[in-house]
Amino acid sequence: MDGQEYFYHPLENIEDVDLFYDAVERNHLTKAISPERPYTYWTIELYDQQNGIRGGGGLGVLAADTRRVAEKMGVPFALITPFYPSETKQSLQDGEIIENHIPVDYKKFGYKFIDKVNIKCSGAICSLDVIEKRLGSTRIISVTEPNFGELYSGLSGSDHRLYQEVSLGFGGYAALKLLGLKPAIMQLNEVATFFAALARLDELTRNGMDFYEAVVYTRKHTLYTNHTLVQAAEAEFKYSQFEKFVFPNLKSPAVKKWLSDKFTDGSIKLSTVTIEIAELRSGVSKLHTRVANYRDIAGNKVKFKAITNGIDMDKWVFPEIMDEYKRIGVLDNLNLPSADFTEKLELLDSDTIRQLKLSGREVLNKTLKNRPDQNGQILSFRDSDFIVDFKRRFVDYKRPEMPFKDPVRLRNILESRNAHYIIAGRVHPGDHIMYNKLKSLLETCKHDDYLREHVHYIADYDENLAYGLSCGSNVSINVPVVGCEACGTSWMKDVANLNLLVSTHDGGVADGPMSAYFCVNGGNEDEELDMLYQQLEDAISTWDNDFDLEYMTRKQLTAFLPVISGTRMMNDYLQYLFPK
Ligand SMILES: *Cc1c(COP(=O)(O)O)cnc(C)c1O
Repeated sequence: MDGQEYFYHPLENIEDVDLFYDAVERNHLTKAISPERPYTYWTIELYDQQNGIRGGGGLGVLAADTRRVAEKMGVPFALITPFYPSETKQSLQDGEIIENHIPVDYKKFGYKFIDKVNIKCSGAICSLDVIEKRLGSTRIISVTEPNFGELYSGLSGSDHRLYQEVSLGFGGYAALKLLGLKPAIMQLNEVATFFAALARLDELTRNGMDFYEAVVYTRKHTLYTNHTLVQAAEAEFKYSQFEKFVFPNLKSPAVKKWLSDKFTDGSIKLSTVTIEIAELRSGVSKLHTRVANYRDIAGNKVKFKAITNGIDMDKWVFPEIMDEYKRIGVLDNLNLPSADFTEKLELLDSDTIRQLKLSGREVLNKTLKNRPDQNGQILSFRDSDFIVDFKRRFVDYKRPEMPFKDPVRLRNILESRNAHYIIAGRVHPGDHIMYNKLKSLLETCKHDDYLREHVHYIADYDENLAYGLSCGSNVSINVPVVGCEACGTSWMKDVANLNLLVSTHDGGVADGPMSAYFCVNGGNEDEELDMLYQQLEDAISTWDNDFDLEYMTRKQLTAFLPVISGTRMMNDYLQYLFPK
């Protein structure tokens, strides 16, 4: 079998190229979307348990929300992502995190097998299943094979990661062709998806387009969405790895040459080539866009357009709260804040807020029914209980241990309101530093008779737990080191679900003013810590006063509902990518 011929499906006709030349002459590139020319969204991570794919964190949650919002808005949209045949579940046993690998079968999630596509790796042909699931105007297109492995298995920069990324890029691009789809735009959700744009560049060049024009064409139709702040932290691949996994999949000598020239000292960072192949570039919050420090190959600072992440409110907000937003005219039927939503928020009173949160508590209790805390205890909260939560991936910059730096002070604050403190967050497999932080945090609690009974760690943080906690708690803590969070979306779930937010001024939170929430800031770590306790105390006592509760809740929603709305985010993308 001639692999080269087998896995490439040429452009159906050369009319694309003619159209392109026409458009360039008139200085007007057409990028109209249609069902055959969908908005394509490429992501190595999707967090969509309902559709059988469990992600690692925010990047995947965003991808799932973006697709769901596109579906609601009727946007022709194709999300291309790997289907991982296995995933990890974490549990806590005798203070140790236990990891279980469980197989996942795509057939159980309503995917249809389409066909196989082949890519080349390590001198062999790798055959990938193309599967598809249609959801309204959108579809999830996946490539997979039994040994594909888990999300983020192996080190970044490893052969296996490159294999997964190449499979998504070349395999996914071939899958689109198989389905008769041409991308109106290719949105690359982070650089692991670079190879999709590379596959397109190669195809155009191979089909007779002049190389430089193919570069222009690909660039004009590719959006690189950056979620990372520091380019220096990015893993590199070696030339020898590209010889095994990438070059064999390229047919055009010009593209091979172009790519080879991008190596420095035998290594490459995918961001440098992604910047080259994508003329459109976006960051995920206003602050992130300002501080992201990326250089192109010439050493010039890269500019990103700010399109702050949003969430699919129908997925993350308790339905009774959504009904209330609509009843009082705060949100329209597409979940966009209405023109006069600020005035309409005056109709949200403290009785209603309390009532809605009590109903939300039932959701939390249900979620916790088969999820014991670190002591093996099944929690069930009463109406009179007060809940503070900290839920997010256990990574250093998010500082899960910060509130425990002064355990006595934390205890006093919580005890004053008889409050519980729930922690949820997975440690990345193999991250010993964070694993030890979690252990020592739980150890600290053991030595205090109040914290022992009132601080709960719930293992295996996932969508259900995120939702249950957003619905059921009263105060949420979000304290990333300022400048480290690209956007964050957990806090959006909390604000939309009427929790009071205690947060540092970072990521998407910094899209709003500091006065809009319980802001933790300070010139140094000690000041910040002091401020955290003060604000936590304030947020807790705000719940005891009807006027304060209404005032702060309205303030949070006034500042953040427009940010939170996933429809707003999709509108921003559509305006940026397909200007009228
Ligand atoms: C919302 C959500 C996230 C996103 O978290 P951030 O760190 O706030 O971006 C991660 N994991 C799960 C399970 C979520 O539901």
